[in-house]
Amino acid sequence: METKLLKAGDDILDEAAELLRSGGIAAIPTETVYGLAANAYNVEAVRSVFRAKGRPQDNPLILHISSIDMLKDIAVSIRPLALVLAENFWPGPLTMIFPRKPHVPAETCGGLDTAAVRMPRNAFTLALIEKCGFPIAAPSANTSGLPSPTSAVHVYDDMNGKIPLIIDGGECRYGVESTVVCFEDDETVRILRPGAVTPEMLREYCHVVIDSGVLEKLDSGAKVISPGMKYKHYSPSAEVYILKGSDGETANFIKTVNVNKAGFLGNGDEPLPHGVKRLRYGKTPEEQAENLFSSLREADAAGCTEVYVRMPQTEGMGLAVYNRLLRAAGFRVIDAGNCGGKDAL
Ligand code: AMP
Ligand code: MG
Repeated sequence: METKLLKAGDDILDEAAELLRSGGIAAIPTETVYGLAANAYNVEAVRSVFRAKGRPQDNPLILHISSIDMLKDIAVSIRPLALVLAENFWPGPLTMIFPRKPHVPAETCGGLDTAAVRMPRNAFTLALIEKCGFPIAAPSANTSGLPSPTSAVHVYDDMNGKIPLIIDGGECRYGVESTVVCFEDDETVRILRPGAVTPEMLREYCHVVIDSGVLEKLDSGAKVISPGMKYKHYSPSAEVYILKGSDGETANFIKTVNVNKAGFLGNGDEPLPHGVKRLRYGKTPEEQAENLFSSLREADAAGCTEVYVRMPQTEGMGLAVYNRLLRAAGFRVIDAGNCGGKDAL
């Protein structure tokens, strides 16, 4: 199949809407990461998305909407708190989970009786959903397991030949997927996946519980609310390690790395020995979120066999960065000050 790469704009809205209306799929830009879009109500189209990504059938998709009316068509009931959060964070990177109506296909929702819904903040994609008139199911547009795509080129690298259309809307603003929450009661949400809508931001409106799966490794076979959390995720081919420690401890550790080519994601001014490639990361959690996935992809492109990433802070958006990194690293955290160097591990 030939894969077309088109720039987002009013001139391609009709073509993209027609493709989705006829059961086709396309990669779309959002403010979080690129999504692989299908009519959420068309089972065959949704199956094509799972196939193109190689995504496990029980990992549900997020339904992207352009109006509260669309939410009412999906959800059996909507708590007042959900409407307050929608008013304050939509369009934006917050996904909320609702009991789904029977006409929402089980396939879209990984067999669950709930549906995850969000309104994205991207002018083209919002206009596309509006034009289609149905919710768009869209997981991240990467091959399952690989780092999520934050540019159209990343999507092309994974999806060339597998999907008919990639819509290029430039670099994604946040670089990590949306915050996913479910409701404990009328005043409390549980964060299942952290994102750019941080716990601190949500606490302005409600109580917030952070699910243990956000930072802890789940036992195999454990029952989880959000199936996506049990899969190895966001990983390049290179082995990823999280480095915990001060600037000095990190610099000392990195000197002991003895491979042909290693990558390093740090704050940008650490001294690096020969053979260790500096990759973009940053000092603030926002910069780190923006750069993380593209730098992990770049590590593979550069032939790195190992990648070391400095541990982010765990407040604010740092929680989202740390959550993705733990999965990319298979939960391997090295205490740079206390391990006696790479050879001693
Ligand atoms: P992605 O589409 O790659 O952004 O991943 C979507 C995430 O949302 C995964 O972690 C899913 O497990 C989660 N998710 C989607 N729908 C639901 C749902 N109905 N209940 C719980 N989690 C969901
Ligand atoms: Mg994903």
